[in-house]
Amino acid sequence: MTIPRIIPRAEHPISRGYIDPDALRVLYRLHRSGYKAFLVGGSVRDLMTGRTPKDFDIGTDARPQEVRRLFRNSRVIGRRFRLVHVFFEGGKNVEVSTFRRTPDPVAAGPGQEGDEDLLIRSDNTFGTPEEDAVRRDFTINGLFYDIATYSVLDYVGGVEDLEKRLVRTIGDPLIRFREDPVRMLRACEFAARLKFRMGPDLVAAIAELKGEIRKSAPPRVTEEFLDPLRRGWGHDTYRLWSETGLLGVLVPELDAAVASHDAPFSTLFWKMLHDLDARKAAGGAHHDAALLSVLFLPLVFAAIRARGSGGARVDPSQILLVLENVVNPLALRMSLPNLMTHLVKQTLYTLGPLTSTRPDHPAARRLVARSWFAPSLALLSLYSKASGRYLAAATAWQEVLERAGRPDDAAPSPMPAAPAPFPEALVPPPALARAHAGAAILPMPGEARPAGRKRRRRGGRRHAPGGAAAS
Ligand code: ATP
Ligand code: MG
Repeated sequence: MTIPRIIPRAEHPISRGYIDPDALRVLYRLHRSGYKAFLVGGSVRDLMTGRTPKDFDIGTDARPQEVRRLFRNSRVIGRRFRLVHVFFEGGKNVEVSTFRRTPDPVAAGPGQEGDEDLLIRSDNTFGTPEEDAVRRDFTINGLFYDIATYSVLDYVGGVEDLEKRLVRTIGDPLIRFREDPVRMLRACEFAARLKFRMGPDLVAAIAELKGEIRKSAPPRVTEEFLDPLRRGWGHDTYRLWSETGLLGVLVPELDAAVASHDAPFSTLFWKMLHDLDARKAAGGAHHDAALLSVLFLPLVFAAIRARGSGGARVDPSQILLVLENVVNPLALRMSLPNLMTHLVKQTLYTLGPLTSTRPDHPAARRLVARSWFAPSLALLSLYSKASGRYLAAATAWQEVLERAGRPDDAAPSPMPAAPAPFPEALVPPPALARAHAGAAILPMPGEARPAGRKRRRRGGRRHAPGGAAAS
C-alpha cells in the first residue's frame, strides 16, 4: 500500500464554499455513517486550478447498495459498472461510485509486450482508494479531496503535474492507451482546454497507437467529438487531434480538407471553430446539429467543388444527392441517431435557402418554424463571419429569429420534394478557401446586396424561395 501525498487544507485552494451544497451533503452523510467520502476526478482538478467543475463526483468505500440505503432519493444505475445517483431538486443528481480497480488481466500489464489486446471490456471490480486513483486516465484526474480532513490525497503525482501544467497518463501511456484508445482523444482535449502540454512520451505513444482508436465504440468517439465543441475549446482540441494524426485516422476526409494551411477550406473551418469557442465564452450555446454541420461543411463543399470541376455547374437539385453521399456514410460511422442525421442534412441544406431567400418573403415564415432553422442560421452566421460572405443575409435572418423568439420544436418534416437552390455559389472560391489564417478576408463583390437576389442574378430557374417551403 502506498502512502499518498497529503496536501492539508492550508496548502491547497479547495474551500467547501466552492463545492456544490448537495454534493457536500452527500459527502457528509457518507462520512458520518463511517465510510470514506472523497470528491474525485475532474472536480478536484478544476477546483485546484480555480475553475468551475461541471459536476461533483464522489468516491466512497460504501458498496452501491449501502449508498442506496443511506439516501432515499437515490437509484442504482448502470449494468457494467454500478453506481448510485442521488437526486436533488431541479433535476440535479450527484454521482456516487464505489472505489474500483483495473481488472486483473490488465494488472499483469508490465510483463506484457507486443500488441496483446489490452482493451478493457469490463471494469466492475471494487478496490481501495489507491487502486481507484491509479485506474484513472491522467494524473491530473486522479486526485481526491477527503471530506474527513479537508485535505487533498495524491497517489499519482497529479498535484505536481498541475503545477507543471502537464497532461500525463497514470502509468505507461503505451499500456493505458491500448486499454482504452479514447484516452488519446481525451489527452488532447485536456491539453487544449487547460492549455497544458502533453509530454513527449505521450505524443510518441499517440503516434504509435493512433490506429487503435478505430477499436473504440463509435458513440463514445462521437461524444468526444461533440464535447469540446459544446464546451468552448473546439478549435484547439481539433487542432491537436489533427496534428497528432487522430483526426486523420477517424475522419480522413475531414482531415484532408482542413489539416494544412493550403488544404481546401482549411482557413474557413478553423475560423468557424474559433468563432464557435468565442460564442460559447460569451454565453452562447448551439444545437448539436449546428456543431456537427460545422464538421460536415468542408466535406459538402469539397463534394460540390468536385462535381463542378471541369466547368460543369452543379444543378441545385443535385444538392440533396450530395448531402446523402457525404453525410450518410460518415453519420453511419459515427453512429449518429437517424433523427440527428436528418437534422444535420436539413441544417446544411437550409444554408442554401437562407442565402437565397429574403427574410421578408412570405415563405420565410414557414422556414423559421422548422426545427433546423436555428441550427442552420447558426451555421450561416459562423460561415459568414469566417468567410466575409453573406453577412447581410445572416444579420437579416438573425433579426427574424429574435423577433420570432425561440423557434418551435416541431418534429422535423421530410426534405422538400422540389428543392430550392443550394447555390454552388455558396462554396467559397479557391482563393478564399485557401487564404492563410489571419489573412484579411474580403467580402465577395456583390455580396452586400439583399440575399434574395443572388440566385436570379445568376440566371437560374425561378425556384419557389425557401427550402422548407418549396413544395
Ligand atoms: P469533465 O467532466 O469536466 O469533462 P472529468 O475529468 O470529470 O472532466 P469525466 O469524463 O466526467 O471527466 O470523467 C470523470 C473521471 O473519470 C475523470 O476525471 C477520470 O478520473 C475518470 N475517467 C474518465 N474517463 C476515463 C477513462 N477513459 N479511463 C480512465 N479514467 C477515466
Ligand atoms: Mg466529469
